[in-house]
Amino acid sequence: MPSDPTISDIGLQATALLRRFYGYNSFRPLQLDIISTAAVERRDCVVLMPTGGGKSICYQMPALLSEGGVTIVVSPLIALMKDQVTALSSNGIPAAAVNSMQSEEENRVIMEQLFKGRVKVLYISPERLLTEIDRWSPDLPVTLFAIDEAHCISQWGHDFRPGYTQLARIKELYPSVPIMALTATADRLTREDISTQLRLRDPKLFIGSFDRPNLSLRVITDPGKKQRINYICSLIDRYPSDSGIVYCLSRKMAEDMDGQLRDKGYRSAVYHAGLSVTERNLAQDQFINGDVQVVCATVAFGMGIDKSNIRWVVHNNMPRNIESYYQEIGRAGRDGTKAETALFYSYADMAMLQNFVDESGQKTINAEKLNRMKEYAESSLCRRRILLSYFNETMDHDCGNCDICLNPPERIDGTIAVQKALSAIVRVNGGVGIHTLIDILRGAARQELILKGYHLIKTYGAGRDMGFGEWNAYISQMIQLGLIDIAYNEANHLKITPYGRSVLMERTPVQLAKFIPFERRKPARARAKEIEEKQLNPAERLMESLKDVRQKLARKEQVPPYIVFTDKALLEMVRTEPVSMEEFSKTEGVGERKAVKYWKPFVTAIRRHKGLPTTFGNGLSHEETLLLLNSGYDVEAIADAKGIKPATVYSHLAALIAQDRLSDFSSIITREQYLRVMQVATEHPESVYEILPPEMPSGIIKVGLAISDYLLRQKANKK
Ligand code: ADP
Ligand code: ZN
Repeated sequence: MPSDPTISDIGLQATALLRRFYGYNSFRPLQLDIISTAAVERRDCVVLMPTGGGKSICYQMPALLSEGGVTIVVSPLIALMKDQVTALSSNGIPAAAVNSMQSEEENRVIMEQLFKGRVKVLYISPERLLTEIDRWSPDLPVTLFAIDEAHCISQWGHDFRPGYTQLARIKELYPSVPIMALTATADRLTREDISTQLRLRDPKLFIGSFDRPNLSLRVITDPGKKQRINYICSLIDRYPSDSGIVYCLSRKMAEDMDGQLRDKGYRSAVYHAGLSVTERNLAQDQFINGDVQVVCATVAFGMGIDKSNIRWVVHNNMPRNIESYYQEIGRAGRDGTKAETALFYSYADMAMLQNFVDESGQKTINAEKLNRMKEYAESSLCRRRILLSYFNETMDHDCGNCDICLNPPERIDGTIAVQKALSAIVRVNGGVGIHTLIDILRGAARQELILKGYHLIKTYGAGRDMGFGEWNAYISQMIQLGLIDIAYNEANHLKITPYGRSVLMERTPVQLAKFIPFERRKPARARAKEIEEKQLNPAERLMESLKDVRQKLARKEQVPPYIVFTDKALLEMVRTEPVSMEEFSKTEGVGERKAVKYWKPFVTAIRRHKGLPTTFGNGLSHEETLLLLNSGYDVEAIADAKGIKPATVYSHLAALIAQDRLSDFSSIITREQYLRVMQVATEHPESVYEILPPEMPSGIIKVGLAISDYLLRQKANKK
């Protein structure tokens, strides 16, 4: 491990560690700045980055950079700590978690390990930290306190957690240790609250770009039940071996959706707060392990889930605010490759949310937040521009990856339709909701209409030329244009506004965006068959076989597939087709630990794909040892990484020295050890191996003798 860094070499050191432990070649924007602020300047900082922006590395790296130091990560997401610890461990970084889900005995052992300096990154819940921290000696070498999901400290945030309010204690007890507060929630009030409450000193503020260009954005206004399910099915069919999330507003809706998807033969699970912990954990595990294609969930699901290959997110209902919405869609495509999102927007949801707001403690602020969400859903401007401007980020061009950019609404003259609808509303005295209004316009023979005498009004049946969906779309637009208002407090009845009245009276021309019907999808089973039969191109075939390899390894090790490799790393393998361990180890996303552990099955699959022989000669284990040694592992670490005995590693090294493939021995044997071997070897050449152990393991003797031969050869060559 390197010693404490200075500004000048931090970039190099950190980049080397990034390559070594994570397999990435370069930092994302801001990451290195943040790391050096914490590790070198030792200054507090507040980091705002969207979900998937790469916050974890910012707080993990300072621990890796410091000799014997540990990062303490305070996180409210207890259920997910295990996952984070597994991910770090699989990269060879010693990590652990302390929380109420583990036994006291487990927690005690971990604390012991921590004090022995065996843990680099410790995850801890706020409650637990507060009970522990007074007992910690001030000389526990904490490099950094990271406060994850820091918005939980603020009443202004959307996710207030009382446990967070006492974290000011950290600064009292560790005044000289920097604190890094991280969140994906960006509004100014929350941000300022975080600094004040944590007593941060002159914190440096980092605002990462909130742009996630790989996420496509789409809003579907007032879809019917069938259209919703068809759309979700089409997503599952597009990504049959990946997974997605459907967010619902209520438990009942989540269960309903789950039932519909199962009926159609899809692998679906449900997740909401009404289920037992066991049921919820099962759903989450099935999702993480790729056993289900979709989870129908209330918003409780997905907090902090690090699954990087979520390919799509659908909001079956409108979220309460843009922060939640962005965080939820942000769970898709964390690996940076293409992912799709869709929001189903309906007025019924608006009514329900409006009620929540009215009953909430912070009515004004919540109403404003809901209103911004509504504007987003109703806009006919590039959606990404709206989102980014919400997060105070300017974007001077349209994104090209949202429904508005891809399908700029075609305008039509909607004057006649508008006149018909407005006039019908006036004639029923604003006493009907959208469905009845459409039925009246289309002249439906429903008993209820007849009983109320609606069939007698002048506009009854005046809109027979258009379908229900078409009317629905146009009336939605009239609402957006402010011609009609929805009385949420009056069973969602439609009312004509003063503006609407003047348009009606003066027959003002109105432009509407042309209605484009949602094309009917084939039934799921037929589609699935089609997909099975679809010819994959060679790259897709290779990707599929690499995913198979990954799935098998993940099953064997009982970890989620993305812990083995992310989709993005697999895509890199498809792109570069590494056919040897060495090439494999250079792939972006492949760190050393994983290179050694996994190269064989993946390289075998790639070689098979390319029609190359898949038998590897002997001596490969030597190659692995050499790779690890060159990347800075010592003998113990190599043995540990490969799961072999140190003695075996020494034999490899001796063999490598005999082949003249090693010339720097400093990390294998000390000068004193070498001289001692030489001394005994000169005095008693026949019995070195009897005399030296147990003073010196025989592996080191073997290496010492190999070095001696090597030096003799060198000398002979020079002559
Ligand atoms: P956040 O905590 O901000 O939601 P993560 O830290 O989980 O995001 O990072 C999201 C994904 O991006 C992870 O798969 C992570 O490994 C990857 N990532 C982070 N930094 C880099 C980088 N410099 N290069 C490539 N991938 C990165
Ligand atoms: Zn756009």
